[in-house]
Amino acid sequence: MNNYFQRVALSLLLSAVSAQNSDAYVLMISMDGFRADYLDRTYTPNFDKLANRGVKAESLRPVFISKTFPNHYSLATGMYPENHGLIANSFYAPDLQERYSMRDRSKVEDGRFYAGEPIWITAEKQGLKAASFYWVGSEAQGLRPSIWKRYDQGVPFDARVDSVISWFSLPPPSRPNLVLLYFHEPDWTGHAEGPNGWKTLKKVRDMDALLGRILSKTSKLDIAQNLNIIVTSDHGMMEVDSEKLIDLSAYADFSDVRFEGSGPTVAISSDSEERLGEVYESLTTVPHCNVYYRQDIPDRWHYKNHDRIGDILVVADKGWWLSALSHGSFLPKGMHGYDNDLQSMHAIFIADGPAFKDGYLRGIFDNIHVYPLVAHILDLAPYPGIDGDLDAVRDLLRD
Ligand code: AMP
Ligand code: ZN
Ligand code: ZN
Repeated sequence: MNNYFQRVALSLLLSAVSAQNSDAYVLMISMDGFRADYLDRTYTPNFDKLANRGVKAESLRPVFISKTFPNHYSLATGMYPENHGLIANSFYAPDLQERYSMRDRSKVEDGRFYAGEPIWITAEKQGLKAASFYWVGSEAQGLRPSIWKRYDQGVPFDARVDSVISWFSLPPPSRPNLVLLYFHEPDWTGHAEGPNGWKTLKKVRDMDALLGRILSKTSKLDIAQNLNIIVTSDHGMMEVDSEKLIDLSAYADFSDVRFEGSGPTVAISSDSEERLGEVYESLTTVPHCNVYYRQDIPDRWHYKNHDRIGDILVVADKGWWLSALSHGSFLPKGMHGYDNDLQSMHAIFIADGPAFKDGYLRGIFDNIHVYPLVAHILDLAPYPGIDGDLDAVRDLLRD
């Protein structure tokens, strides 16, 4: 009899625990190009409030290359670009014999370009509803969560927030446990005005005010007590100097090779070993950059084991701009894409909610650990083969 009561008590306890876990909610917000030190350079009371109540990392290290598409997809999958396949914003994919470009709708929505398992798919496979407002990868065929939106930059930020609030207000069978939300600022202004421009810092304050409205609205939700809010970003922003322009075509002949990109990195590919050798030799004389054959790209970048990565990669020193246009190219005032160890390329990570410690500050961590962190909060078994590791960020958690 005693045993029977023990078993009943245990099963009641277990069902209470599992009900509690399926009651966990996560809202993950990305503010594109939010450089870590922006928070120290202007007045951001709402970010400060969130950090004081919850957790904050000194900064979040992006994956290399420090561009939007590779990084959002690494945040979503816990994988390095050499494993998830989105190795740049634009690239040639020899495996598909097609080009990918973030500006080409048909490619952005073509699931064949995307490997790994984004967190919203992990959630839905394990019985939770998920939603995305513009997260990279969530528009692709075969990768879409139950609720998703086709990218339209013109949709006002507050309208995006109102949609998210309405999703969290749905009755339980339809209500998502996981929502991802994207804003293209302060990246947009950071490119135009540079990371030190007053308009960029003004935009940071605008994003702080937006965060204030998000916190106010989410605090009124029925699920408020169970909601974890993560505010993060894909990369930082570097000042670009119009004096630091390198015209690679002055050093090497790029006719009959594939030349990809401009700015912090360029990639060159060819089927001809001989032509690659010639181009490589010529480029070794260029100042203010490093040139690598793919197999020699530094291991710390985890950026070589995919044939979408160019045969030769040229990486500019900080603030330098590579191009192959003898007549010059359009230069923004700010850019990212440089070495992900540079502090100026680092992003933010701030989170608050029942899963997180209170008022806890920690050091830098890599954005590949965000996927296992979110999976853990939602009690999901992570996709095998991810590069991220929950143990690297477990200290953020309350238990
Ligand atoms: P970049 O600064 O070049 O790395 O890219 C940032 C830009 O990516 C933003 O300004 C957006 O216009 C664009 N972007 C972000 N998400 C998407 C998406 N899902 N589809 C198309 N473009 C996007
Ligand atoms: Zn970005
Ligand atoms: Zn950008």
